Amino acid sequence: MAPKKKSKNEQLQEKLVYDRESTWLSYKPADMKKVFAFSEKYKDFLSSSKTERLCTANVISALTKSGFKNISSVKKAKPFDKLFKVFKNKTVIAFIVGKNPEDVHIIGSHMDSPRLDLKPLPLYEDADLALLQSHYYGGVKKYHWVNLPLALHGVIFTKKGKKVTLSIGEKDSEPKFLIPDLLPHLGRDQLDRKGSKVVSGEELNIVVGSLPVNDKAIKEQVKFAILKKLHEDYGLIEEDFATAELEFVPASKAVDVGFDRSLIGAYGQDDKVCVYTSLQALLSISNPSKTAVALFVDKEEIGSVGDTGADSFILKTFAEDYVKLLGLKITSNKILELAKAISADVTAGLNPNYKDVQDSQNVSFLGHGVSVEKYGGGGGKYSTNDAHAEYMSFIRLLVDKHKVPWQTGEMGKIDIGGGGTIAMFMSRYGMDTVDVGPCVLGMHSPCELTSKSDVYSAYLFYKAFFEA
Ligand code: MN
Ligand code: MN
Repeated sequence: MAPKKKSKNEQLQEKLVYDRESTWLSYKPADMKKVFAFSEKYKDFLSSSKTERLCTANVISALTKSGFKNISSVKKAKPFDKLFKVFKNKTVIAFIVGKNPEDVHIIGSHMDSPRLDLKPLPLYEDADLALLQSHYYGGVKKYHWVNLPLALHGVIFTKKGKKVTLSIGEKDSEPKFLIPDLLPHLGRDQLDRKGSKVVSGEELNIVVGSLPVNDKAIKEQVKFAILKKLHEDYGLIEEDFATAELEFVPASKAVDVGFDRSLIGAYGQDDKVCVYTSLQALLSISNPSKTAVALFVDKEEIGSVGDTGADSFILKTFAEDYVKLLGLKITSNKILELAKAISADVTAGLNPNYKDVQDSQNVSFLGHGVSVEKYGGGGGKYSTNDAHAEYMSFIRLLVDKHKVPWQTGEMGKIDIGGGGTIAMFMSRYGMDTVDVGPCVLGMHSPCELTSKSDVYSAYLFYKAFFEA
């Protein structure tokens, strides 16, 4: 039977009405293969990049393998050179000089994720257990972090100034750490608490041991035994905790989710999904007409503050280095003003369990492509960059030309809450900026959910932006 011919109105409807459809429907078998293959390497990256320091190391290793050189080792640069700059082991700027070096396209993402840090003097003994007092970092629901096997990563400096790097709990053979919650049998009062206090910050104490030294002369035998072990294994003393950055993160690895394996569940996808996809985009291009810059920053989760966050002068100093290396006549300020930028960060997808906080007409859907958000913030567009219509049009022409699956999006209903990205810190230089990234369910939880299709769409978008 021949397909029924569409009526005039049906044809017109196709042209006029914005269609929100799953990207999966448009894939041919070869596309599916690419999407699934891409996510395998992404999952490996996630599992080995849980902290900003680990992520920095993995980014640098990938750059070095692809022939990028540290700018500290060069005095001059020319078109098509591949360079990078590292700052404090927590921030990286990688770039390929374009044929027209005065034209710069920047994609910025962040490498930090919510986690448990430690207090300066964290170790104590209670109830014949040794524990570490934590101080949570970023926007966490504290009750997520109890009864969850944790891994430890970070650095700690000895009294003599020697750096000791710790990584315990990622391998199956290694021990994990745990914060035990209260049992429901005795939890009646706890469950009457407000959600933000069901588990309080001061209750996030991590169990790290229980074997006492068999010596009556020692006052806290379990704490002492842990100190003794840390001293034997790493040469540490208790005071060394004051000169450390130790981070506890979920010990689990990135996993496929669903009978159909179409989704990824993993810690830290905010914002390592954008770190990985923009890095892969940078590594996949050659001889670009515009300079392609991938910026990977720290401290986004606590407001982009400090010398490694996007609210620092990192882009300004980069532009100064860049102008000097290339011997350009243009000023560094002008380079930044003329640049085009993407703030690559995740947004919230529609969660079927909590639909009342999101506007189903404007929210992003898992599997509908990378989300382009004109603005974020909250409470009447506070604390955000609001991309200009002219720039939105540039982006739209770009995604259409490169056939990138994309959707518009808005995080949640007006006045329900909100969230920021680094967009406003990039746009302050005068560069056009817009937020683009995959949507996530369960954001800031120990296991965030993304669609493999959106992850791949993000990669396609960033690549198209670099090649624009
Ligand atoms: Mn983020
Ligand atoms: Mn975040």
